[in-house]
Amino acid sequence: MISNDNHFFAYLHKQIPIMMFLSLFPGLGYVFLSWAHGIPLRAVIWYGFIVVVSFWGYHIYRDYLDKSFTKKQLKRWYLHLTLFYYAFFLLWLSIFLLFITKNEHQLHYIAIFTEIGAAVVASSLLMPDKKLFKPNILILMLPLVVYFLLIGEWYGYILAIFSATLAWVLIYTASSSHKLLMHTNYQANHDFLTGLYNRYYFIKYLQDFMSSLKASSHRSYLLLIDLDHFKTINDSLGHDIGDDLLKEVAERIEGCLNSHEFLARLGGDEFVIVGSEYENLEQCYLQAEKLANNVLLALRENYLIECHNLYISASIGVSMVSGDSNAANRFIKEADIAMYEAKERGRDGVIVFDEEMAKRVAMNLEIERSLHFALENNEIYMLYQPQLNKDKKVVGAEALARWTSNSLGEIPPDVFIPIAEQSGFIIELGRFILETSFRTLSIWDQQGVNIKQFSINISMRQFFYFDFIDDVRLLCKEYLTDEMRGKVIFEITESIIAEDVKKVIRIMEEIKELGIRFSMDDFGTGYSSLSYLKLLPIDEIKIDRSFIAELNETPTDQVMISSILNMAKAFNLMVVAEGVENLDQFDYLHDNHCDIYQGFCFSKPLTEQKFLEFYQKT
Ligand code: C2E
Ligand code: CA
Ligand code: CA
Repeated sequence: MISNDNHFFAYLHKQIPIMMFLSLFPGLGYVFLSWAHGIPLRAVIWYGFIVVVSFWGYHIYRDYLDKSFTKKQLKRWYLHLTLFYYAFFLLWLSIFLLFITKNEHQLHYIAIFTEIGAAVVASSLLMPDKKLFKPNILILMLPLVVYFLLIGEWYGYILAIFSATLAWVLIYTASSSHKLLMHTNYQANHDFLTGLYNRYYFIKYLQDFMSSLKASSHRSYLLLIDLDHFKTINDSLGHDIGDDLLKEVAERIEGCLNSHEFLARLGGDEFVIVGSEYENLEQCYLQAEKLANNVLLALRENYLIECHNLYISASIGVSMVSGDSNAANRFIKEADIAMYEAKERGRDGVIVFDEEMAKRVAMNLEIERSLHFALENNEIYMLYQPQLNKDKKVVGAEALARWTSNSLGEIPPDVFIPIAEQSGFIIELGRFILETSFRTLSIWDQQGVNIKQFSINISMRQFFYFDFIDDVRLLCKEYLTDEMRGKVIFEITESIIAEDVKKVIRIMEEIKELGIRFSMDDFGTGYSSLSYLKLLPIDEIKIDRSFIAELNETPTDQVMISSILNMAKAFNLMVVAEGVENLDQFDYLHDNHCDIYQGFCFSKPLTEQKFLEFYQKT
């Protein structure tokens, strides 16, 4: 039996009506023949049994269609099905036995043919199930062999050998097809690399499992396991080592499971576990957490692969599975959200999906929907935050997007920008931000605002969009003189380093040809690797506001800031301190030769008009 596989049951289920059809109609012919040869009563009784067993078969057939089974119920159903098939073939054996007791040649011919025909039917219809086809072929063919032997003549012995051979051939062909079926089934359901079940099988399993949960009102859990920084190992040590690591990871996870827990590889470095059934949610929850922690522990141990000592951790998202919903995808998605949350909270951890996360996801969906109309409805506008030099004179501005949604109210940019990035809306939005900002810069120029720099935030997806350079070029042409272009600075973040660095440099260089400069935003929060400072053609760094905020409290931040400033000087980079909120911070930065200051201490982000007034006042 193909364990756990409902396709197997579905196949055997489909054969029930065929079996009934092949018995009920030809069966009438046998009744007629028996009547013609003087044994009507026994034949009618025989046919009565056929009808009764068919009726039973019909119920077995209906049960499978109507109900969602628990595993236990399915097992019982399968037992009934097995008995049903045995009953039918035994009935065909009995008509054989009935006919050969009569001393009439015609009936003997028909009996022999019936036996062979029934054996062929058994070998073809029951092929997926060894436990069914082997005994049934033997039940039908062995009496035939004995019958031929009992003739006691040379042709009888030959026919006995023939029928034994035929029985062997039938079993052999059914077994071969069975093996082939198992093999293709194995390949379709398993992952080639690790030998675990694959995504395709997992989805089927989960769906069947959910109907079982529905029938029993039990609960279970789903763990989504994603390795941390696996890509780095693959990229730096090669795919062979990556593959070996995945195999070992698969083995270690498997080692944490009991026989009721299900493991599959979804692809790449993603694995999934489905737990067993629990009556009690609390218990289910505890077991999920325990298992997740065991898996983390097992994965954290070091790996020795081709003389490399490797370490890897994983992030695990957990969702609680029930039979209430028939969308298996829902639980996978929930585990996925929880898994990303685990990544965001520093990786190497477990997060269980909860109501709060569900609310946030719903809210994000709402934001994503509303965002699509935000530009048409003129809900998005730009503010400009002044940047000052050490003499507290306005020398620059950073353009910051704002969204006041008609339906949702004020949504901050660190909420809607990432959503716009995910949905791809950032391309349209980014173009709007560029155009509005460029227009403002040119208007200020006419109004006599003489600033040295004008910063615009560029998101990753916008930066890599194939039309980005052309867009910038066109907008420059439309709004900016050469002198104004020299003021524009694009702020990018350190996460850009994780991308194809050659490509990043190529894009940056093409933009720089227009006269635009680059600044590394949120400096110190991301990769913090100095090597790229030399590598990338940047002109400025912005010390992240989290460092400035803790300046007064933590001495380490002071050391950090002074070393950033020293280093920037060594690389000949301008330094902007953002989030300067008080004069103590300003004084410290000033003493350490910071170039530009931006923060609430001087001004919050202002509208175009308010910025003009602020500029004129200072
Ligand atoms: P960011 O690029 O680091 O922008 C600086 C943020 O610091 C702004 O928040 C600004 O209002 C805030 N800020 C400035 N001075 C102070 C201060 O003294 N104290 C405190 N606590 N905060 C200060 P905002 O405008 O909410 O923007 C948040 C983030 O959203 C930005 O961080 C940026 O990553 C993103 N963002 C904003 N506008 C845009 C945009 O036009 N395009 C893109 N791609 N991202 C944007
Ligand atoms: Ca910025
Ligand atoms: Ca920043």
